[in-house]
Amino acid sequence: MAAVIDGKAVAEDVVGRVKVLAAELRAGTGIVPGLAVVIVGADPASQVYVASKGKKAKECGFHSVQHTLPADTAEAELVALVETLNADPAIHGILVQLPLPEHIDSGRIIQTISPDKDVDGFHFVNVGKLGTGELATAFVPCTPAGSMLLIERLRGRDLSGLNAVVVGRSNIVGKPMANLLLAANATVTIAHSRTKNLAEICRSADILVAAVGRPEMVRGDWVKQGATVIDVGINRVAAPEKGEGKTRLVGDVAYGEAAERAGAITPVPGGVGPMTIALLMANTLVSASLAAGRPRPA
Ligand code: NDP
Repeated sequence: MAAVIDGKAVAEDVVGRVKVLAAELRAGTGIVPGLAVVIVGADPASQVYVASKGKKAKECGFHSVQHTLPADTAEAELVALVETLNADPAIHGILVQLPLPEHIDSGRIIQTISPDKDVDGFHFVNVGKLGTGELATAFVPCTPAGSMLLIERLRGRDLSGLNAVVVGRSNIVGKPMANLLLAANATVTIAHSRTKNLAEICRSADILVAAVGRPEMVRGDWVKQGATVIDVGINRVAAPEKGEGKTRLVGDVAYGEAAERAGAITPVPGGVGPMTIALLMANTLVSASLAAGRPRPA
């Protein structure tokens, strides 16, 4: 049976280090890392994510601000808010929770965020840095960065000679994940909805990352014996066994089956999810340190 990758424990480690470094930064420079989270509308899942980000920021000793705007907020108003946050010296990280309502151009909002405060790593400047291997100065999107940290802990920083398959090619997860794996010298395949022979491709993976958004799509016999399986998916499905109307979370990987073949696997929940928030805190700390004229913390 596969070893279970405890994302919660690794995330606690990361957050612990962020707390120490934030306290040092404050003592040495008086600067308190500031994170602003902006949410437009009342999507319940987004509200849960935003609340947990704010809570974690406070736990890290950060200055944490939340801007909650009504669903009918005009795009120009949101642009103006982001510009105000760009200019606010107490704010080092700006996160606009996605998805935004349809009448707002998400791309325009993301590109309005100053690349120096783009702790989500979605601005073209940061995407370009990741794509060209400028990892030393990029803000890398939190979910793939967190997934990579889990992979590093298991397989080391140099993945030379290993095949990695990423299922999913979104700008938020799949593409940056593939770039990180490539930067670590893995031989990378990106699969998506138009890929043929997906099961066979997955079976070639020493490192298999699933970021699809389809409950338990990756079956056990898609997994190479001994592979490291990172399940990014978070899907809520009906759980009649828990009672009428009850639900549970599952990943994009059929966990029980895959665990019989994998060498190590992330559970859902408790795998990649906690890493995402931890890396958001780490990125905010990095931004604040750079703003204070200090070297980028490792
Ligand atoms: P997107 O919907 O943006 O992308 C999904 C990708 O999966 C697309 O590239 C799509 O291909 C591909 N895909 C869809 N169906 C298939 C299929 N049948 N076979 C192969 N590929 C397929 O999702 P995200 O990248 O934003 O998120 C992916 C998952 O990760 C979701 O479950 C999401 O909830 C979760 N997530 C978890 C986070 C965490 O903190 N743990 C954070 C962010 C996301 P195509 O491009 O061809 O359409």
